[in-house]
This record gives sequence, structure tokens and C-alpha cells, in this order.
Amino acid sequence: MTCLRKGGAAPSCVAVDAMLGWLARWLRILGVDARYGEQSDEELAETPCLLVTRDRELFKRRRGPAVLLLTDDHVAWISALMRALGVESFKKTRCPKCNAELEEIPCAEAEKRAGHPIRSDRCWACPNCGSVYWEGSHWRGIREVVEKAAKTPVDCAEAD
Ligand SMILES: [Zn+2]
Repeated sequence: MTCLRKGGAAPSCVAVDAMLGWLARWLRILGVDARYGEQSDEELAETPCLLVTRDRELFKRRRGPAVLLLTDDHVAWISALMRALGVESFKKTRCPKCNAELEEIPCAEAEKRAGHPIRSDRCWACPNCGSVYWEGSHWRGIREVVEKAAKTPVDCAEAD
């Protein structure tokens, strides 16, 4: 079993519990508004977003939409959330560090900001924290994981 879910259709944003920072960064790369590290368990139980947790107690307490992750398979986590949110691939992406929507910039500009040459056709900058990203070998690794996740079957049951 990959996960349990409850509370009906998923809203467009996600709030993950303190154990799931890794997943939050991945969801942001997929363009999902993923909130992390801002909220206590009490606040998480009341979030207007889809709550994603590994904590059974928190899942039980939650009245709104929630997903309880049961597996340790990280690719299955991504797969479960892609399905819950109707995300098929990544188009517009968010800053993995701070969750702001990235803006595409000319790679010459990205090189200037990064302070070293960048071999890439596409570059982005975060308007919030100033981080610069480009389609390098790391990016291709991300794409492979997302493609693998899209093909990974998910067994997510409705909780009572
Ligand atoms: Zn940022």
C-alpha cells in the first residue's frame, strides 16, 4: 500500500509535515505550491491545502483533504502526489528553496549571476531569493525521476 487518502478532491496547494522537506522540494520543481516548515501540527491539521504527512495521528485528526504516505519508496511518494494533484509533467516550476514561481531568463544573464559559464539552452531565476537554475546534468536526473514516478503504479486507498 502506497498511501491512504481522505477528505475529497485535492486543493491546488500542498502542506507537508516536518518530515517531508525532500518531497516539498520535488513538488516545487513540479510547479506545485508546496508549503513546508512554516506550520505546527495544530496549524497543519487546519490547513486549507492538501495535507501530506507520514504521521498517523495527524492524519486521523485532520478533517480536510489529506494523504498519509505509508511507503518508504520516495519515487512512489512523488507518483502518489502527481496523481492526487493531476500533475503529469513539469511545465512551470517553482524555486525548490523558497517556493516562489521561477522566471525564465536569458542564459547570458544567468551566467553573470552565477559567476561561471553555463552550458544550457534554458535558464531560470527566482524573483524571491535570487537563486539561478539551468537545464544541466542535474536537471536531466530530475526529469528521469519524474518520468519514472509517472510510470510507477500507486495503491492509494480511501480511509474511513
Ligand atoms: Zn527562491
